[in-house]
Amino acid sequence: MLIVQKYGGTSVGTLERIQEVAKRVIESKNAGHSLVVIVSAMSGVTNRLIEYAEFFSKNAPQSKDMDMLLSAGERITSSLLSIALNTMGYKAIAMSGRNAGIITDASATKARIKRIHTKNIQTALDDDKIVVIAGFQGVNEDGEVTTLGRGGSDLSAVAVAGALKADLCEIYTDVDGVYTTDPRIEPKAKKLDKISYDEMLELASMGAKVLQNRSVELAKKLNVNLITRSSFNHNEGTLITGENNMQNMEDVVISGIALDKNQARVTLRGVVDKPGVAAEIFSKLASKNINVDMIIQNTSKADGTTTLGFTVPENEMDLAKQVVDGLASSVEIEADIVKVSIVGVGMKSHSGVASKAFSTLANEGINIEMISTSEIKISIIVAAKYGELAVRALHNAYELDA
Ligand code: ADP
Ligand code: ASP
Ligand code: MG
Repeated sequence: MLIVQKYGGTSVGTLERIQEVAKRVIESKNAGHSLVVIVSAMSGVTNRLIEYAEFFSKNAPQSKDMDMLLSAGERITSSLLSIALNTMGYKAIAMSGRNAGIITDASATKARIKRIHTKNIQTALDDDKIVVIAGFQGVNEDGEVTTLGRGGSDLSAVAVAGALKADLCEIYTDVDGVYTTDPRIEPKAKKLDKISYDEMLELASMGAKVLQNRSVELAKKLNVNLITRSSFNHNEGTLITGENNMQNMEDVVISGIALDKNQARVTLRGVVDKPGVAAEIFSKLASKNINVDMIIQNTSKADGTTTLGFTVPENEMDLAKQVVDGLASSVEIEADIVKVSIVGVGMKSHSGVASKAFSTLANEGINIEMISTSEIKISIIVAAKYGELAVRALHNAYELDA
C-alpha cells in the first residue's frame, strides 16, 4: 500500500519524539508499505516564530516575510526526521513544499493549494525512499514560499495523499482520535470509531482542531481515506468516511460539541439602514480576506439606523475594525467571547435539539449572545469565561458520555 502519514506538533515535539516517530515510520515500511511522511513544526515553534515577528510589529503582518519565517519550522522537523531515518539504515529524503511540487495561490499566510507536481516524490518513491515532506507550505506561481494557515499540515497530508492516489492517509496526533468533544475539556468524552466527512467538517470548522477544516473538505472532495489516531500508542483511531450508514446515524442525533476560542465580535452602531449598506460592509471585509462568520442585525431604530454585529477570527479583529471604521457611528471589538457548537446529522429529522441547548445553558446561568443554525449544526456565542462550562453542560445534556 501507499500510505501518507502526518505527524503533528506534539508527536514531533522533542528530538526523542522524532526518534519515536522514525521508529513508527519504519514499522510501516517493514510491513511492506511505500511511505510519504508529512511533518508539522515541533510543538510551540510556530507560535514562537509568530511572537518573534510581533516583537517588531504588534499585529504580525500577513506578508511574504511571515511565510518565509513560518515555513522554517516544518523544514527543521522534516530534515531531522529524514536524518534520523537515514541513520537508522532506511533510505529517506527530506523535501520542502517547493521540492515536493506543492503549488499554491499567492495569498500570504493562508494560501490555497492549486495542484501538486508529484514528479520528485514519485522518483524518490520509485527509488524505495521514505519521502519526508515539510507540511503547511508550498510555493506560488512565482516560486515564492507560501504557508497554508494554522493547522495546515493536515491539509498538506490530504492534498499529497489525493495527488498520489494513496491508499490511506493517517493523521497522527496526541489524542486517540476524534471524540464527542475535546477530551481536554470533558474527560468523559467518548472516542468515535467513525464519523462522516460532513460532520467532521462541521466540527473542525467550529473549532475542533483535531483536524483542520480545509483538510476535511479536501478529503471529501478527493475521496481520501482518512484516519486520525495517536502517535503515542497503537490504539485504533477514528475513520473519517463518506459512507453514510444512515441506519445507525439516524439513531445518533448529536455526534459532537466543539468550542472555538479564537472568535471576536465586531459591533457597528448607527449603521444607516438602507439597501446596499450591508453589501458595502461585507464586500470590504471580503476584499481583505477576512473570514466573517456569524452576523446579527437588529431591527431598525426610528432614526433609520441599526446595529450590526458579526464575528471574525480573533487575529483578524483589528484589521476588521480598520476596514469598517467610518461606516458606522461607532465600531466596537470584543475578544472575550467564544463559540460553542452542537453538531449532528440527525438534527435534520429531530425536533427539540435547539430548545434543549437553550434550556441547558439557562440552567447554568449562561447568557446566549448570538445564535446561528444550519441543517446539522447549532452555534451559540457566549462569554469566554463560560465556554468550557457550556461544553460540559451540553455534552451531559445530550448524553454524549452514555
Ligand atoms: P497536532 O499538533 O497533532 O496537529 P492539534 O493540537 O492540532 O494536534 O489537535 C489535537 C488536539 O485537538 C487534541 O489535543 C485536543 O485537545 C483537540 N481537540 C479538540 N476537539 C477535539 C475532538 N472533538 N476530538 C479530539 N481532539 C479534539
Ligand atoms: N505548524 C503549523 C501550526 O502550528 C501547522 C501545523 O501544525 O499543522 O499551525
Ligand atoms: Mg493540528
